[in-house]
Amino acid sequence: MVVTQTAADTVAITRTFDGIEEATHRIIEQVGGMASVIRGAKYAILKPNLVAGRSAETGSTTSFALMKAVAEEVRACGAEPLLCETPGTEFDREATYTILGIEQFCAEHGIRLLRVDPEGGEADWVALQPSSAKTMRHFHMPRILQEARLINLPVLKTHVVSTMTLSMKNLMGILPRPDRRHMHAFDIHQCIVDMNLGIKPDLNIVDGSVGQDGEGPLYGDAANLQVLVAGRNSLAVDLACCELVDVDPRAIPHLKLALEQWGKPWWTQVGDDPGVIKHFSLPPKKRLYNTAFQVMFWLDYPYTLFAKRGKHMVTTLYKTGLVGTRPIISAEKCTHCGVCVDTCPLPNVIDLKALKIDARGCERCLLCYEACPEKAISVAGFSGARQ
Ligand code: SF4
Ligand code: SF4
Repeated sequence: MVVTQTAADTVAITRTFDGIEEATHRIIEQVGGMASVIRGAKYAILKPNLVAGRSAETGSTTSFALMKAVAEEVRACGAEPLLCETPGTEFDREATYTILGIEQFCAEHGIRLLRVDPEGGEADWVALQPSSAKTMRHFHMPRILQEARLINLPVLKTHVVSTMTLSMKNLMGILPRPDRRHMHAFDIHQCIVDMNLGIKPDLNIVDGSVGQDGEGPLYGDAANLQVLVAGRNSLAVDLACCELVDVDPRAIPHLKLALEQWGKPWWTQVGDDPGVIKHFSLPPKKRLYNTAFQVMFWLDYPYTLFAKRGKHMVTTLYKTGLVGTRPIISAEKCTHCGVCVDTCPLPNVIDLKALKIDARGCERCLLCYEACPEKAISVAGFSGARQ
């Protein structure tokens, strides 16, 4: 990440009809090959989107096939692939890893899983102060990034707060939680632009193998786009993604700000030229939801002065079971078949005797909802509610 990028800006688009792994190898070749990304570095950090325990098939998280193929390319260039990602503050990292099976996946494919301290601290983090940042003038990146390349692997999907999350927004997951709190509390859109002044991926590959529209980033509709988009310039890649799903980039606040402040980048497009693959429906504007979310992060400042390290206002509120997207069992419809208990990847969350789901342990993956043969589980919440 620290060496000046050498290749001209190329944005490649390729369909995944022949398989995600094949498409990944192809698109890396189309943007100049992995050797041009690694350039002798010892490490490459893979930064997927693992915001929560929702599978890649839902269009919420990055495809394992994509990560596997990228790791193979990195190793073939003599570098070690490392995976670094901390889920959203309202989700538990270890539980999210368990639901997604990340530890096993990394072990099987020779990827070192980095567990940086999500709360910050000098051991794992180094400070950045981009001179032209406007709102977030001081933030941190993992210390190891100083000697590693950064390969950003976002998902092509909508987002109830930022409207879309693509390459530029995905970097939030590599920041420690105090910096992410700052972003949520103070103009997240400008903060995304500021963050991208300090952290510049050596390569972005946007995973649109599924993608998600509607009420993303977790509970929207799987889009089945079957496409990957790659390039070094994050803004150029994000603009190319918008074209594929017929979204005006000026409707995405952080892209609008980036265009105003940096101007439109120029790039050469290679690979497939599919035109508009799907007309994305953007998430409904929920001012109350967004304001409540922001207030939770404001309140986190006084809260963390007294709370145990690692505890946050948003997590504590979600664990009351009174707010947030949450599954609920209907006593009238439930036949006590036990399928939901067998499906839940986490222990002791569903109590079939009391027909209760323990909000303190539930990570809102909705696997129980999807598995229930009686449709006895509904989902409540401002976002993602469903019968
Ligand atoms: S899967 Fe549905 S019907 Fe079966 S125990 Fe769970 S909630 Fe009840
Ligand atoms: S109770 Fe349901 S939503 Fe909660 S973690 Fe288990 S399977 Fe996921």
